[in-house]
Amino acid sequence: MNRSETREKGYFGEFGGSFVPQSLQEVLDLLEESFLKYKDDDDFNLAYKACLKDFVGRENPLSYAKHLSEDFGGPKIYLKREDLNHTGAHKINNVIGQILLAERMGAHRIIAETGAGQHGVATATACAMFGMDCSIYMGEVDMKRQSLNVFRMELLGAKVIPVTSGQGRLKDAVDAALGDLVENYESTFYLLGSAVGPHPFPSMVKHFQAVSSEESKRQILDKEGQLPAAVFAVTGGGSNAIGAFAHYIDEPSVRLIGVEPEEAATMTEGTPAVIHGFKCLLLQDSEGNPLPTHSIAAGLDYPGIGPEHSQLKTSGRAEYYTVSKKEVLEAFQLLSRKEGIIPALESAHAVALAKNLAHEFTSDQAVIINISGRGDKDVEQVFDMLR
Ligand SMILES: *Cc1c(COP(=O)(O)O)cnc(C)c1O
Repeated sequence: MNRSETREKGYFGEFGGSFVPQSLQEVLDLLEESFLKYKDDDDFNLAYKACLKDFVGRENPLSYAKHLSEDFGGPKIYLKREDLNHTGAHKINNVIGQILLAERMGAHRIIAETGAGQHGVATATACAMFGMDCSIYMGEVDMKRQSLNVFRMELLGAKVIPVTSGQGRLKDAVDAALGDLVENYESTFYLLGSAVGPHPFPSMVKHFQAVSSEESKRQILDKEGQLPAAVFAVTGGGSNAIGAFAHYIDEPSVRLIGVEPEEAATMTEGTPAVIHGFKCLLLQDSEGNPLPTHSIAAGLDYPGIGPEHSQLKTSGRAEYYTVSKKEVLEAFQLLSRKEGIIPALESAHAVALAKNLAHEFTSDQAVIINISGRGDKDVEQVFDMLR
């Protein structure tokens, strides 16, 4: 396969692609070749499903939220419980898929980037289970702010490498990890954490996260005998949302609804640009530099968004809205009190928007809210904010 074919395949409308130096492109071409080979391989898929069942704890439930439905006064609300996965969020689905691919490709060493630490912890967890050497790149500033996650990764046997270049944040950690990959690609696999980056990462991450909607579609048909009227999911880089949408994209009766923070409103205010080797909607200043974001949910602090979301928005297939910090804090408490589920602050964004839009649905319709993670990591922060 030559380079131009590869690049065309990585496009979602005008978004996506691969804007990287030739040395990295060669590594990505190898990765694409392996992904295409194994994604439909029976043995590979058996191993993936077995690992999701025995290690991650899938399938996770689609829970009917009776009290929340009553409170919203609109449709029946169902919650897809990615919070019940091992390590407490959806990120592990993608990590397991990619680490199995790394094993098939003969890699002995895994590297990853992390911002808040969630993807780093999920990667370190899987590396411990697979007996792989693990190095996590993390901005020096982020390491100070998330010292407990640094300790978690170290407990799990990973090496956390401080990145001092640039602002010492997530963007610089991605650049450092890409540099490592180019130098060590024969032994090393770069396990990227969201549906972003150059081709084939967005398609690969979607493939492994799509297990969420594969399950929820079966579960909702079983419980309701009909498709959901809508699926709500929060978008940071876009991986939990694209996984929650995947099996409904070709079902025009299902509204696909993405939610973002007012403080990081990529889909609402972003314009097309290239970041980290791919084209997407981006929050940028007049000179084209990425703007800093300030979400209360650390997992949403990314100025870009996956290319497929950029295209789903432009084509009108999916809708994207913002919610305020205040609405998120209310939703965080509401789900805790009404349903006994403390959600991640990220996931509380989706709950907040479902409340705002509940009046657009009727009581004989059902909607799904993707609960991307559990809120234990956020309890102390919310305690401080509410005081
Ligand atoms: C990381 C994270 C997100 C945001 O990442 P996406 O790639 O947009 O899914 C959302 N929810 C939780 C719980 C997370 O840990």
